[in-house]
Amino acid sequence: MTVSAREFTFELRVCQWAERNWPPGDDPGAGTTSLVARQLGTRGRRWDTLVLECDRDALAARGVFGPERLSSDLLHVVRHAPREWAYYREALPDPGYPWRYVREAVHEADSRGIVETRRRGGRIECRRRWFYPDWCERIVAIENKPDLDASAARALADQLERDVALGLADEVWVATRATGEGVEPALLERLPVEAGILTVGEEGVSVAWHPRTLAVSEPGTRILDRPSGGPGDRSAARFEYVDPAWKRAKRREIAERAYERGWRSYVDTMRPDCRYFELRRDGGDVLPWCAAKGRSQTARECSGRCPEFEPEPPAWRTRGWPITGGPGKGFRRLLDRQRARERRVD
Ligand code: SF4
Repeated sequence: MTVSAREFTFELRVCQWAERNWPPGDDPGAGTTSLVARQLGTRGRRWDTLVLECDRDALAARGVFGPERLSSDLLHVVRHAPREWAYYREALPDPGYPWRYVREAVHEADSRGIVETRRRGGRIECRRRWFYPDWCERIVAIENKPDLDASAARALADQLERDVALGLADEVWVATRATGEGVEPALLERLPVEAGILTVGEEGVSVAWHPRTLAVSEPGTRILDRPSGGPGDRSAARFEYVDPAWKRAKRREIAERAYERGWRSYVDTMRPDCRYFELRRDGGDVLPWCAAKGRSQTARECSGRCPEFEPEPPAWRTRGWPITGGPGKGFRRLLDRQRARERRVD
């Protein structure tokens, strides 16, 4: 196995490794499991890879709410829906936004079969079907940077300092390609000491630096603007405080989106229906492969605009793929099955 410098391929490798091996070097404990997703975060910050450390039983209990994510409005309903029938406005806490949105969410929860509703005396009453568990215990964010040179380390340092100040994830890491000489100490010095470093090589993944756990339940600091640091720069940094309640709610939303999406959803934006699309095993990893380019393609280049795109021939859909669709649909089903299996944590 050679480790690709292409960020997309590298990212998929890190996701696959994390799914099998998280936490690195540690026994996860009998009651704990992890769920991996990619390209998720907040409006202002998207992380490459997310590892959710979950309580195994609570994750299984989350399964009754279905594979789709619960939005913040739905979470408000399912987390507070009463055990016995009650008028929704009296049973649910004040949401801090108009009640009509809560009413819509109550109806949506009912149509998804996760809360029951009825009408009594012109009022909508609701009651819960299941208890919504706090299934995600920790959120670990990994930034993938296969080539960590001096300028990449500088740009990353700024992002990571913002992550550390905000403290939305419990840990932040950088994953980089092993060079054979480890990670240059000068590069390490540029990154905040709170960030962990993983090196990915042909022999596997190892920890070059352990991270510190961030204070997710304390107020955070959002850095809005900071001086460039040049000799003539006398501007002041601008920042704002972020309260722990916002962080708790945001973490739940991120966990729900990660639950729905996982990391195999890359296939949704690629063209598995192209005749050149393949899934190939490389070492222990399964990666998308383009037979026309003779290498692993990126999600961006594998689109209908790709000059080499050719739809799979109709004959393929009946030859050895007799039920529904050809190899393209088969790849999608395979990845969907794997995604579902990770949620069930068999
Ligand atoms: S030829 Fe283009 S569209 Fe087809 S698999 Fe390769 S990258 Fe994707």
